[in-house]
Amino acid sequence: MTYISIEMERFECAACSTKTEEAYLAARCRKCGGALIPIPLVDRRVKRSELESLPPGVWRYRELLPRVEEHQIVTLGEGGTPLLAAPRLGVELGFGGLLIKDETRNPTGSFIDRGATVLASVAKRDGVRRVLCTTTGNLGASLAAYSAKAGIDTRIGIHPNTDPGKLYQMIAYGAKVEVLSHLRPAPNEREEATAVTAANHYLLEGEKTTAFEIIQDEGWSQPDAIVLPVGTGGHLTMVWNGLLQLSAAGIIQKPTCRLVGVQLEGSPPLTEVPEKRPRRSRGAGALTELEESDPVFLNAAARAIRDSRGFGVKVSAKEAIGSTGELARTEGIFAEPAAASVIAAMRKIGEEELLSKDSRVVCIITGTGLKDTKAISRIARTAKHIVTREQLVIKPVQLGATKVSILRLLRGEPLFGYLLWKKLKEGRSISIPSIYQHLSELEGIDLVRRSSIARAKGRERVIYELTRKGLAALEAASRAAEGEKLLLD
Ligand SMILES: [Zn+2]
Repeated sequence: MTYISIEMERFECAACSTKTEEAYLAARCRKCGGALIPIPLVDRRVKRSELESLPPGVWRYRELLPRVEEHQIVTLGEGGTPLLAAPRLGVELGFGGLLIKDETRNPTGSFIDRGATVLASVAKRDGVRRVLCTTTGNLGASLAAYSAKAGIDTRIGIHPNTDPGKLYQMIAYGAKVEVLSHLRPAPNEREEATAVTAANHYLLEGEKTTAFEIIQDEGWSQPDAIVLPVGTGGHLTMVWNGLLQLSAAGIIQKPTCRLVGVQLEGSPPLTEVPEKRPRRSRGAGALTELEESDPVFLNAAARAIRDSRGFGVKVSAKEAIGSTGELARTEGIFAEPAAASVIAAMRKIGEEELLSKDSRVVCIITGTGLKDTKAISRIARTAKHIVTREQLVIKPVQLGATKVSILRLLRGEPLFGYLLWKKLKEGRSISIPSIYQHLSELEGIDLVRRSSIARAKGRERVIYELTRKGLAALEAASRAAEGEKLLLD
């Protein structure tokens, strides 16, 4: 390229603000071990016409991304997602200029693919052969897909609460999955592997391209506001970072766009330093992508919001789930509740007149609802006019042998997943993740429920018990089995 300068990837610690130029995949702050935030690459120059001449997608902006060679790029066609006018939803919410940046269109259904393509490309550049990751869902699915493409071995530790759809993705892409009782690095990991978290600085680098695309699709002008979920705070920080970088590159004037961060009620406030790991929010299990992401970049996100003259909005899990239906019915986009939370936030913003009604507002819908089976069943339960609950319930005869065995064991006594696995594995080959998978599905159709949490061998265990409906299903399954036996006889 014509624009060569002495450029370094530079990072700043999210916790202590120490700067570093150590640009490798697993780098952390040398002083405190904190996560790193990329500093906008202000020495990069690029022209609008040059960007316009390239095909859409994350790598259209490669001049503004970490340096990798063409042959090192690991891509599945991420980014280049549509910026759609949302007039029907706009009428409901009272905003005439409402736009949706539809990130559900990414290869694995989440905006994280923008980061995963950069991360996997840097991994390939640096000769990384194996990555290790703990996650609550979307990151694992995305990382597994890009690792598959790059030929990188991936091991993923997941929380028992992980959405089945995301777990299926990880398994399908060939990742080795282990269920952890806490989100922490997988134990006994002696083989050489590079640890990756949702706070990885190369993931962040890719995530700033959301901002680049919004600006380019708006004809190189800025909307009045961009509304997005806070989560770890990383995406929001990088959207601001991206605007600063476009400004430094001479593509736009000073950033004027206000950033609005959406959080679940009970999340740590956007203005304080989280000294310890923040408390889990209320409504446990409702919105894993929002509530279980450790908000390591909360300070940086708060700063970005302040610098953009933006603000934070909190919504309840119920409001977020409700808005998935609203978004799908009005604009044909099915988002996961964590993503649709921005729509619930827009309602509040309208009611409290936090933005003027003629504002041009971009809502970023970060991930698809298709893999969030728990949310799907919740929505279906409330949408009585579309489908009755009975239509969704798996008929007892449709329960597979493993599920029937699980119900039978739980009729005897409430148990946690590991014990269930120990009792079940005799006489059949079954993995622990698949036990949690079955439990999650049974929970989704109300046949089992969580009764309590017990500590065993220093770990917290979720105890499952049979519901009344579960007992009825088990009896029906037994009757059906008897009937079959009679027929065969
Ligand atoms: Zn530090």
